[in-house]
Amino acid sequence: MDFIRPEQKRIFDETKCGQPKDLAEFNISAQKAVEEIAGSFGIIKAEYSLSLSRSCFSDMDYPRDLVLYDEKTETENEPLRFEYELYEGGRVEFVVYTKNELSSDERWLIEVDLRQLYYILNELVLELSCESLSLTDFQTGIPNSKAFMRFASKVVEEGKLSSYTALVFNIHNFKSVHRSFSYIEGNKVLKKYSRIIAEAVTKNEIVARTGGDNFIAMILNDHLDYFLDLLHNMVVFHEKDGDSMTFMFGATIGGLKLSDDYDVNDIMLNTSVAYQGARERRQMFNFYDKKLSENLMERKIVLSKFHKALIEKEFYAVYQPKVGVNDLKLHGAEALVRWKHEGKDIMPGKFVPVFEQDGCICMLDFFMLEEVCKFIRRLIDNGLKPVRISVNFSKRHLLNNKLVEEIAEVIDRYGIPHELIEVELTESENSHSQGVMSDVVNDLGALGIKTSIDDFGTGYSSLGMLKQLDLDVLKIDKSFIPEAPVSDNDKSFLMLKGIIALAKSLGFTIVAEGVETSAQFELIEGLGCDVVQGFIFDKPLSESDFIERIKNKDYVLE
Ligand code: C2E
Ligand code: MG
Ligand code: MG
Repeated sequence: MDFIRPEQKRIFDETKCGQPKDLAEFNISAQKAVEEIAGSFGIIKAEYSLSLSRSCFSDMDYPRDLVLYDEKTETENEPLRFEYELYEGGRVEFVVYTKNELSSDERWLIEVDLRQLYYILNELVLELSCESLSLTDFQTGIPNSKAFMRFASKVVEEGKLSSYTALVFNIHNFKSVHRSFSYIEGNKVLKKYSRIIAEAVTKNEIVARTGGDNFIAMILNDHLDYFLDLLHNMVVFHEKDGDSMTFMFGATIGGLKLSDDYDVNDIMLNTSVAYQGARERRQMFNFYDKKLSENLMERKIVLSKFHKALIEKEFYAVYQPKVGVNDLKLHGAEALVRWKHEGKDIMPGKFVPVFEQDGCICMLDFFMLEEVCKFIRRLIDNGLKPVRISVNFSKRHLLNNKLVEEIAEVIDRYGIPHELIEVELTESENSHSQGVMSDVVNDLGALGIKTSIDDFGTGYSSLGMLKQLDLDVLKIDKSFIPEAPVSDNDKSFLMLKGIIALAKSLGFTIVAEGVETSAQFELIEGLGCDVVQGFIFDKPLSESDFIERIKNKDYVLE
């Protein structure tokens, strides 16, 4: 007997040549192959069943039992069964019914044929498993970013994007789980969370983990409300050492309504922009809008220019005079930064918030302090009597535990008397940074460097906090200065009155910012403010104009 018959070779070639991409393709080749040998062996029915190990495919949707051949003829014969183990841990069983009893040689030949199929199947399952692994986030077992990209590409190809909304989200306060428990325990909670959201999406949707506690999803529009509701009110139960715990999680979510003109990269990018918007606007949910994206682009551009601008001295200081309310004399000035870029002056509103977010504001503030020190040095060297100049210091500096030393080092390097420098700080949002700020204020005070709290009333500070700070100056923000005249029971006027009374009782010098008219001046004079910084006297001045002011310290009120 021939060892390899033409039919056997064909089974191998046809299925192998086809190089099945997936199980469906394998099944078609296998059906063809069995059909071809059916006549030679009197096969009337052949089927196979597949059981894969759980780890095999993330998508368990595969045909488990498949008929390869069926003549719909009855037989009394016991079927032949061939069972093989897959490398991946699953098994495949072929069951073959024949019209007649087969000789052991024939059986052996059929087995050789089926083995060929098994080899191909085994290789395919291995390939699919590797593929599936590369699409799975190993920590949580849910799809990863690559799987998301693949899913999105498929939807783009099918032209079905407009049925979907893409989401990028981050779990609220997940860090506290890691902080309160061990890292391992935190990961278990993350895994449970991930499983809940993965089970909440349908077969035609996807949710993937992009890293940390960040996720991306594509949800069908008519399912969106349900999914968002779940993310905002997620409950995760967890047990540790017999104690059961319940976690309630919310999420910050950016959303992008998809339309057919999106490509996959735009989906990722714009949904992330929407998420960024949610964070910045401190909203739980934010839809993408074009303006947001333009703002972000603008920010990126601004940020990318910072270092070069600093080196090339594009930043410079202007000085806005502060005038005594009672004597109408120049009392001091605030140094304000300006950026001369490509021939244009850029106002701080365009770049200070961007640099604040990034942290590079700290370098800029020190640059300004140095500019101010150099300026005062020049005044002294030219025999002019300098006034105190305040410099803005962002609250980002509170993370620097050498802040006071570094400020003093700059001032001393130029030999400037400490009382000629005032550090303007803004209010801090939490008790920790308020504590740090209090230390900074005290330490600067001990060195004779003055401190003020800027924009009082716009931020987080309470009147109670004021009592704890040993400040010299309180600067009331311009938004608190009412458009005079005001009625006696005007709310913001009453608040202003209260703040001034308290600040006075604590011994602070009170500076009113943004006073523009003589009516406003009279009003704040009546309330007992000490100093005015506002357009009523001067806009921020160039260094040379300010020197003229120093030479003539008297103002007249028109
Ligand atoms: P700020 O520190 O509260 O400075 C006062 C701002 O109010 C200045 O705006 C000033 O020009 C403006 N101003 C003063 N009087 C009037 C008035 O009568 N009417 C109106 N409408 N505005 C008035 P500017 O120069 O645009 O600065 C804006 C903000 O940018 C500053 O507010 C400060 O928070 C920030 N900034 C400026 N320079 C620096 C800096 O060197 N470092 C840091 N960290 N922030 C700075
Ligand atoms: Mg200021
Ligand atoms: Mg201010």
